[in-house]
Amino acid sequence: MNLSRLVRFAGSCGGYKLSRLITSKNPRILMYHRFSRDAERGHLDAAMFEWQVQYIAKNYKPVTVSELAEDLYLKQCTPRNRIAITIDDGYEDFYEIAWPILKKYGVPATFYVTTGFVSGDLWLWPDQLRYLLEHSPCSTGQFSFSITQINTPIPDEQFEAEYWRINHLMLQADNAEKIRCLNEMAAAWIIDLPKIPPKRYRAVSWNQLEEMQAEGLEVGGHTITHPSLARVSMEEARNEIFGCAEKLRQKLGDSIRSFCYPNGTADDFVGSQVKFIKEAGFSCATVAFADTQGHAQRYAMRRHTGSPDRFQFLKSISGVELLGMQLRNHLVETYYD
Ligand SMILES: [Zn+2]
Repeated sequence: MNLSRLVRFAGSCGGYKLSRLITSKNPRILMYHRFSRDAERGHLDAAMFEWQVQYIAKNYKPVTVSELAEDLYLKQCTPRNRIAITIDDGYEDFYEIAWPILKKYGVPATFYVTTGFVSGDLWLWPDQLRYLLEHSPCSTGQFSFSITQINTPIPDEQFEAEYWRINHLMLQADNAEKIRCLNEMAAAWIIDLPKIPPKRYRAVSWNQLEEMQAEGLEVGGHTITHPSLARVSMEEARNEIFGCAEKLRQKLGDSIRSFCYPNGTADDFVGSQVKFIKEAGFSCATVAFADTQGHAQRYAMRRHTGSPDRFQFLKSISGVELLGMQLRNHLVETYYD
């Protein structure tokens, strides 16, 4: 039996409950992005999210990330069965679909917003890229841009692969180069990005955020323009972090808020930027990956993916994923001893 089937089998025999008990003092933070009413690629549908929220409400003590940080780093205690739900970026579908479900079950959450996106100053760059590719020429052509070359037309069956190929290249590029490439594509294909993104890419409004904050939502910071902080200058990183904190204060008042690194892999921020996050007043910060470090670092708290797959969700939330990582580390250490 392979490991995945073994875990599934153990889960059905009460293994998730056992794992929850063993890891009850290792609070998990779950990470979500987009929501839809019905099944849609790249989105978590309302029915599955409701099932997950109900499961969390029944089996855990859900808190915001700042509440969790207060327990861990100020009170230095680790109460049992804590879970924090986080949602990144600031899309309107959180307000329309996810928040009503969270409210229904009394589950708090932390919503990390890109302030320039909420203010209507920009679209998030992955959405710009998708829109540009969707509007690329139907005629045969070969286009050279600063980051890559693109052949048109892009066949429907290759669209997703092409999108993710370029998305990946842009993630590796300097922020300025990425923006230049998006502008080059728009110019070469004579595409005018609408000032306000189409409905499916739209941000929540400041009024909606104010309303949700009054109902218990933690609105956290996610920079102004969502760059990878490791791919901008220190001055730009400082402006992104301070500008975001200032805008949140100005629009939503003083409140304890956490911060979330855009993209959030270990390559998307540098340790020397932590001082900006502290000075800007954020109580802690989260990354977009999980490992055995857990929450050892207040400004790099680990997060697990809030998956649309029920099995993966149970693995993340019950601590099976965490135990698996610990076991793998243990085996590697034993092997190299
Ligand atoms: Zn993000």
